[in-house]
Order: sequence, then C-alpha cells, then structure tokens
Amino acid sequence: MLDKVLIANRGEIALRILRACKELGIKTVAVHSKADRELMHVRLADEAVCIGPAASAQSYLNIPALISAAEVTDSSAIHPGYGFLAENADFAEQVERSGFTFIGPRADTIRLMGDKVSAIKAMKEAGVPTVPGSDGPLSDDEGELLATAERIGYPVIIKAAAGGGGRGMRVVHTEGHLISAVNVTRTEAHSAFGDGTVYMEKFLEKPRHVEVQVLADGQGNAIHLYDRDCSLQRRHQKVLEEAPAPGLDPKARAEVLEACRQACIEIGYRGAGTFEFLYEDGRFFFIEMNTRVQVEHPVTEMVTGVDIVREQLRIAAGLPLSISQDQVEVSGHAFECRINAEDPRTFMPSPGKVTLYHPPGGLGVRMDSHVYTGYNVPPHYDSLIGKLITWGVDRETALTRMRNALDELLVEGIKTNTDLHKDLVRDGYFQQGGVNIHYLEKKLGL
Ligand code: ADP
Repeated sequence: MLDKVLIANRGEIALRILRACKELGIKTVAVHSKADRELMHVRLADEAVCIGPAASAQSYLNIPALISAAEVTDSSAIHPGYGFLAENADFAEQVERSGFTFIGPRADTIRLMGDKVSAIKAMKEAGVPTVPGSDGPLSDDEGELLATAERIGYPVIIKAAAGGGGRGMRVVHTEGHLISAVNVTRTEAHSAFGDGTVYMEKFLEKPRHVEVQVLADGQGNAIHLYDRDCSLQRRHQKVLEEAPAPGLDPKARAEVLEACRQACIEIGYRGAGTFEFLYEDGRFFFIEMNTRVQVEHPVTEMVTGVDIVREQLRIAAGLPLSISQDQVEVSGHAFECRINAEDPRTFMPSPGKVTLYHPPGGLGVRMDSHVYTGYNVPPHYDSLIGKLITWGVDRETALTRMRNALDELLVEGIKTNTDLHKDLVRDGYFQQGGVNIHYLEKKLGL
C-alpha cells in the first residue's frame, strides 16, 4: 500500500480522500492556502503544509508549490481530487517525473480525453456510441462546413475541442447562422483555451445527462459501476444527482455499460473515470470522459457498496481491482443534493461564518461535508459546502429520506441552496423520474 498521500485539494473532497487513506492505514498530508487553515481535513491530517495565498492560482493550482510540499513531507503519492489540477496532464506528468505516484490515469490518457475531438475519436473506435457529428476538427472551407451541417441536420452545436465547464459552445438552428457561429466559437476557444480547434455535433433538443462510472487497474482489468442521472443542472452545473438512472432502455443500457468497460481495456485506462452521455429516445451519445473522481461519486458508492476512492488508492499502489464485474450489483437507489453557500433564488455566493451547523442523520443518510459550527466559508473558492446523500431500498424510499434529511439540515449564518433542494424533491415531474437537462432552468424561469 502507499505510505503517505498528499491531498492536493480542499473542502469536502479533501476530507473524503483523508478518510479513505485512514481506512487503508495511509499517512496523510494536507496542503492548504492561507485562507484555508481552518479546514477540517487540515486538522485531521498527519501533516499540513501551507502552499500559498488564498488565490487558487498561487496555491491549489501552483504545481511547483505542490511538488515541493510532496518533497518536504516525503510523500509517496498525490491525490488531485476533482477540479483544480485533477485533469491537468502536465501536472500528472510532473508529479510522476518528480518520483511521486499520481493517483489517476497516465498523463497521455488525460491528454487524450482532455481534447474532445481525440476523445470522441478514441471512443468511437472502441465501440462507444457518439453524437452524429463532424468526426474531427472543422475546416475553414465554408462549402465544406455547410455540407457537414447539412449532412448532420440542423440544429447543430459548434464545440471547442479544448472546452470545459460548459464554455465554448454555440447552437446553430439555420444555415444562415452557421459560418459566423463557427468563426465566433473558434475565436472564443482560441482566447479562452489557447486552442481554436472546433467541431460540430447534432444538437439534441431534450436529452438527459446519464453517465457511467468505471474503475480500471491499468493491468487489463476494468469494471463499470452502473449509471447515474445528473440531468438537474443550472448553467451546466449539476445540482442534484441519482443512481441508478431511472427508466433507461434495458438493452441500450446493458450495451453502453459493457462498451464503457471494454473501452477502458482498449485504451489501457487506469483509475476511476466517468463516461458522460446524453440520453435521448432510448439511445446513448458519448460527449466526454472525466478522468478523475467526480463530485457525485457517492450515489454510486451507496448503491454498489464499492468505495471508489479506496479503489483509486489501491490502483495507484499497483494492486488489481478488489472486485470483478460479476460481483458488482445495484441495490436500491440513492440521491445527492449539492449544498452550496449561495442564495437559493439569485444563486449569488454567500461566504461567511457558519454560526450553526447541524447535519442530518439516521439510516441511509450520509453527509459529506467539511463544515462545522464556527467555520468560515472563504469567498475564494467553489461554493460547495457539502453533499447530502440518501439511500433507500427503492427510489421512493431514498427520496422520502432526502426530504426528511433536508428538513433536518441546519446551516445558519450564511445562505444555502437547501430551499431549492426542498422544492426539487417535492417536484411532481422529478418524482416521476427522467426529466431532461433543461428541466431545472425552465422551472426556475431562466
Ligand atoms: P463541458 O466539458 O464544457 O462540460 P460537454 O461536452 O460535457 O462540455 O457539454 C456540456 C453540456 O452541453 C452538456 O451536458 C449538454 O447540456 C450540452 N451539450 C453538449 N453537447 C450537446 C449536444 N450535442 N446536444 C445537446 N446538448 C449538448
């Protein structure tokens, strides 16, 4: 097993990783910015190192500072969590070159998946269903562009190969708008991501967001841990997730799960990963792969009983997967509400001192949070302050538990989006299951 892991992240995921390390008897190093001295995992870690000022660019994104922290603490491995440097191939490479284990895929895999054009190509070759599209970067030739869009059929979406976080995309409904849309997206992509490569896809009008969790040991073994539905989104940010995804076409589902597993074997994938799909009219369309642990991983853990972070640590230590595909079963249903420090109506961030924190409890209730009474939510980072997860023998039971758990959750002193969640878990369409990715924004009148 690994001897000592440096946790290159903050907040709830840093605490999540710390807990998994403790269970495996691995020593932990917390790194933190000057604004994050009070974080819960900093108190609990075996060692703590301040890596810079509050601004992420100078702390959590500061590669030399992270590597020196690993050196001075004699760490054996670095866990990047999600966000920050988790999908930065250069970071993964520098970590490994400096003699530490990067807890994640190889740098070249991260690079392959970080470019959406190459990711789609690799997935298509591996037999994963993709969105009908340009099958590669768009050319400058106007006639060719028009012909490509004609072949795919309007509406189409122009997307930046290097895009992320829902940026660098433009929907085109008619031929007359195509050329200017391609040019604008290209220019934007160039300035935002330093890469003006764009591609074209069919724009699906009412898809759901369904994703498949995988684990692979890089030694030829790969498993899938079934699916999650993350369709409730605002500005492409997930708000509330569930596992398994309700009401999928059983045949299409079985095929896509197996295709993801096979694709991992084919590309020699290592670690935890997620294949993201749009799901419409009983069909799956791959859009991208995330090469890290995801915020919503707990819903999968709750229904499969597999500890995803523990598996990441084991894989990084060179061990094979601790379970085989036929040992993975879905039992019951789980939901996750992302609790953010923000106004439930305007979504403006609401940092500040938490004067009272009371997490819900009881059977089938899990609260992954770094918050405690007296904790000061700094204004410098993501507003996620916790994840409330409930499990039940079936969807209705898990949802009832979520309603009750949300009523029990008390966070005072700052505003949170708890009221939005209370509303969502009582929403008639959501209760039926299977709402599409536009549902939340429509409901909010956006
Ligand atoms: P990012 O990396 O920026 O998150 P994605 O490729 O995952 O980019 O797309 C983000 C979101 O954009 C999707 O969840 C979906 O809401 C929308 N989207 C992307 N591609 C399409 C498409 N072909 N049709 C409809 N919506 C799409």
